[in-house]
Amino acid sequence: MKKTPDTAGKSANSQSVTCGIDKELLDILACPACRGDMKCGSAADFLYCLSCGRRYPVENGIPILIIEKAKLPSKG
Ligand SMILES: [Zn+2]
Repeated sequence: MKKTPDTAGKSANSQSVTCGIDKELLDILACPACRGDMKCGSAADFLYCLSCGRRYPVENGIPILIIEKAKLPSKG
């Protein structure tokens, strides 16, 4: 059986927002404050920690994982 090249490829399925960061890199990133898992925010310009909720800015696709730069979640 002859294999034909799959020109369709994979569709640009943006299931998960990664802020332009490699998903593999995003997977190994951890919150410097609590070592919690990091997720990209919906605005795609910050990462947030799933554990403590700190928000870290992302500049030009580079996450700034500095505790002093992080914003704490406002409690309501
Ligand atoms: Zn954290």
